[in-house]
Amino acid sequence: MRLFKCQSCGQTVFFENRTCEQCGHALGYLPAATQLLALERQGEFFAAVKGQHLKFRYCENASQDACNWVIPADSPDRFCAACRHNRTIPDLAAGNNRVAWQRMEFAKHRLFYTLIALRLPLKNLVDDPKGGLAFDFLADVPGAGPKILTGHEEGLITINLNEADHAERERLRTQMGEPYRTLLGHFRHEVGHYFWNVLVRDAGRLEACRAVFGDDSEDYAAALKRHYAEGPPKGWDQNYISAYATAHPWEDFAETWAHYLHIVDTLETASAFGLRIHPAATRNRALHADIDFDPHTAVSMQELVDAWLPLTFAVNSLNRSMGQPDLYPFVVSAEVVRKLQFIHEMVHAHGSAREVSAPVRRKGFFGRVIRGGQPPSQPPAPPGPPPIRPPEETPEITPPEDAPPVELPPDEMPPPPMPDEPPPLRLN
Ligand SMILES: [Zn+2]
Ligand SMILES: [Zn+2]
Ligand SMILES: [Zn+2]
Repeated sequence: MRLFKCQSCGQTVFFENRTCEQCGHALGYLPAATQLLALERQGEFFAAVKGQHLKFRYCENASQDACNWVIPADSPDRFCAACRHNRTIPDLAAGNNRVAWQRMEFAKHRLFYTLIALRLPLKNLVDDPKGGLAFDFLADVPGAGPKILTGHEEGLITINLNEADHAERERLRTQMGEPYRTLLGHFRHEVGHYFWNVLVRDAGRLEACRAVFGDDSEDYAAALKRHYAEGPPKGWDQNYISAYATAHPWEDFAETWAHYLHIVDTLETASAFGLRIHPAATRNRALHADIDFDPHTAVSMQELVDAWLPLTFAVNSLNRSMGQPDLYPFVVSAEVVRKLQFIHEMVHAHGSAREVSAPVRRKGFFGRVIRGGQPPSQPPAPPGPPPIRPPEETPEITPPEDAPPVELPPDEMPPPPMPDEPPPLRLN
């Protein structure tokens, strides 16, 4: 994720901001330009401070404080590029549904930020009624039928609203023996199933994908049952990014896909802050990096991994200094890099439809520019900047050779999958 600058006063502003805290201008995110626009009201629309002839209105979900994206004023759309994929949202008047859904939308918009930056194909149910990407945000109703299962089916992603309850999500994470469970992680995983349909199954890559992830014709229900009964095979972490990825090749693909998005987005954030990692304790080059490139246009997976390992090594260590769980509690093995490479090449092969922008090596910001300037006026509605928060537990970046290995406290290893408790709400 980039960092943004208020186009009116130059204040640093964040992706989710709706108002500049310094000059009071309204802010709206324009995905086509990767820009957070400073806006001023002009009648029923908002004009961009930089380019007054450009008029916008907010996505309809802005009225629920669930979105800060804008749409060109002359567009017939009511919803923005991210919200146009919502099929069902919960009853916002009931219980904590509104807050839960707002949290979901925060995560979902970050998902779409990266999908759009990677120029992945995004059809909704209007574009493709049979297989378009759509979301149902559903709440369990006590005593009314089976629990809502988070999962994906032919483009439709269902998310149980209770995942937005931090205590409940942590309970599930512990119960499932997972080192990491976040809303953003859910979205990135589930959308991986959608892109398996679009970029693998429907794009003639089935055999190539099977050569890397295994034979997906294996009975899915039986495979999951086996996974929950027996847990992952011994030594799984040599070949898989997570224990759950061992359940079935589809899950391996979705898990690996999610990590590809984790890596690309987090590296972009590191780049936006101009992070350089040069630990004095080691001259091992594998632990040094200047993160000064746009990961969306990286030439190879190796380029990303070469920056990712030092970054996670450093940030996991920072988290430990604060008594926090590791930012990235996973080991990226050579085999996992091979799988990530498959995804990287596939994403970029699709991206050949996009203009080939050579990897931009520059410090700090990257992004497309919008136009010339003008000063402030008046603001509209709320919310403020969300705290930027990291996720969960156990580590290892397999620090090469003489690297100071970070000792794990003994109780940090994730427990094996639950014994005979029912497999609840696991992503599928
Ligand atoms: Zn400002
Ligand atoms: Zn929206
Ligand atoms: Zn899944």
